[in-house]
Amino acid sequence: MRIFVPKERSDGETRVAASPDTIKKLIGRGAEIIIESGAGEGSRIPDAAFRAGGASIGDAAGAASADVILKVQRPTGEELQTYSRGTVVLAMMDPFGHDDALRAMAETGIMAFAMELMPRITRAQVMDVLSSQANLAGYRAVIDAAHEFDRAFPMMMTAAGTVPAARVFVMGAGVAGLQAIATARRLGAVVTATDVRPAAKEQVESLGAKFIAVEDDEFKAAETAGGYAKEMSKAYQAKQAELVASHIAKQDIVITTALIPGRPAPRLVSRAMVESMRSGSLLVDLAVERGGNVEGAVAGKIVDAGPARIIGHANVPGRVAASASLLYAKNLSAFLETMIATESGALAIDFDDALVAATLLTRDGKVVHPQFAADSG
Ligand code: NAD
Repeated sequence: MRIFVPKERSDGETRVAASPDTIKKLIGRGAEIIIESGAGEGSRIPDAAFRAGGASIGDAAGAASADVILKVQRPTGEELQTYSRGTVVLAMMDPFGHDDALRAMAETGIMAFAMELMPRITRAQVMDVLSSQANLAGYRAVIDAAHEFDRAFPMMMTAAGTVPAARVFVMGAGVAGLQAIATARRLGAVVTATDVRPAAKEQVESLGAKFIAVEDDEFKAAETAGGYAKEMSKAYQAKQAELVASHIAKQDIVITTALIPGRPAPRLVSRAMVESMRSGSLLVDLAVERGGNVEGAVAGKIVDAGPARIIGHANVPGRVAASASLLYAKNLSAFLETMIATESGALAIDFDDALVAATLLTRDGKVVHPQFAADSG
């Protein structure tokens, strides 16, 4: 089985889909690995480190003869032209709302797997790319805020006077939000948080933050069987907005992480709320690439918004590239290992496996995933 790991082509993508550790593991399972020269540069993994792990270093042409291609982002149209029929491609495919891209992948005959559709069950925890990347994004959001903030995070009582602790409000307490809470607490901030899932309340409180939410009947029922947030009614959104509006006016830093799978990010912070903040306040919008939680946020930019600034860095996990690649590579290799026959080391995909069924987007020229097939097939 031949595995190819390309250098990512998308602008600003610093991550790579393999690490010296994961290639060693896969070689141990009988694989031959070719890494495109420079693939690890953005994550500080030199070609020599991959070579020392047992991989060969090649160029982009390696894609054509690969049985498996490991990637961070969905292949571009140009990349697809170099892929062969039947090749297995594992990546974060960003499938929602991208029917044309799914069709293009289907037409090349590849087997495209979307890692972000991995079920959140115990067996697949090690393959959970959403968690591994969101965790680092939550951490980095606080570091980015601390870097831009003109005041200190911890309270400092000095002979020259007292510096108050920064007040940080985290909106959305999933994987990213909980890590943001923990990181802001470690830096000494006074932290509050909100979420529409009732289960989040206890998790927020266990990290030493205060929970802020309208806790009505809709809130108590607001969680899907998969543990994700539901889109809330307009009435709930209005009540919640009123509560958070008065809260935001008293905050120094707001970090938003709210997402709903397959839908645009909910708008949580209006321009008026931003305007109500004190001079020098900051908002970090981790959902900016999915439409944004904060009105006025721009992906890839820090924008001035009256008294505050809105930080809208794109690809936040890529701002901690070495750590993000390490974990992402492990997520991929763990999944790929389930597809390798023990004796022969050949690719042996069990299409009845729940993990395969949940993530396989395209096969034999068609979009086969039930969630996307009707729109795109
Ligand atoms: P996510 O990235 O989809 O969304 C981030 C957070 O935003 C979520 O907590 C969501 O409830 C919240 N949110 C959505 N709309 C909101 C709104 N209008 N206002 C405020 N908050 C809003 O979430 P995630 O981090 O991927 O976590 C989703 C769920 O999956 C959680 O229940 C989490 O505990 C669970 N999870 C399970 C596993 C596992 O079992 N292996 C692993 C990771 C996460």
